Amino acid sequence: MQIQTDFDGGNVLVDRIDGDHVYFQPDLRDTDRPWFYWYFAVQNAAGRTLTFHPTVENILTNHAPAMSVDGGKNWQWLDPQCVSQDDEFTVTIADNANDYRLSMGMPYVKAQLDVFAQSHHDQLRISTLCQSPKGIAIPLWQMGPTLEQATYRVIFSARHHCCEMMASYVLEGLLEAAMTDPWWQEHVHVTAVPFVDIDGVAAGDQGKSRKPRDHNRDYDDKPIYPSTPVMMALVKEHCAIGLDILMDMHCPWIRHPGNEAI
Ligand SMILES: [Zn+2]
Repeated sequence: MQIQTDFDGGNVLVDRIDGDHVYFQPDLRDTDRPWFYWYFAVQNAAGRTLTFHPTVENILTNHAPAMSVDGGKNWQWLDPQCVSQDDEFTVTIADNANDYRLSMGMPYVKAQLDVFAQSHHDQLRISTLCQSPKGIAIPLWQMGPTLEQATYRVIFSARHHCCEMMASYVLEGLLEAAMTDPWWQEHVHVTAVPFVDIDGVAAGDQGKSRKPRDHNRDYDDKPIYPSTPVMMALVKEHCAIGLDILMDMHCPWIRHPGNEAI
């Protein structure tokens, strides 16, 4: 059995493996406080029943962990009954699952983003916000009438905190709703920046409270990330004509009432 993270979004620190018991915690990297994101593959363990022991607190949502058996394309929550009171969880790896993915949520990386963009290429006008520090093009999506001709203008952004992956599914839902509503198509210019910290999404970083600065705290007169001044210019361009809604999407914590309902 191997625990692997050599793919987009991968993140874990394995403390030790003792027979069928895996002791692990999130890899915080440059985040300066305990945080919750982890995503790994269990390989070459088909047919085995394994128990996973978090060695730090607060790394599970009120669901069980999520699992994928197709390389992270599709996810489902495990049965909550597999989780014990102290957040240990036990899973039996299917006989044909040689790459069994587990995560605290449902990781959404560039592969999912590309599928969405491709499947809606007839409505999305796809360009580049700017290059990331690692040289990856940060996508900029626009749809609806032009900025000048629109009745209303909205901006959506997500993944300033790169680990907050569930926001990406909400963004997909918002955009699909707008695409299928003739009124929106006629009246609303929509701009979306789905992966602000695209490097962090690929690396599987926490992103939150990143040192020396996290992407969401970079909006002052001395930004350190190339995306920040471009985002500020984008907002100013909209405001000069009339910006109606700007929604920067987050899912900052993993459980408790303030984070599970509006
Ligand atoms: Zn956030």
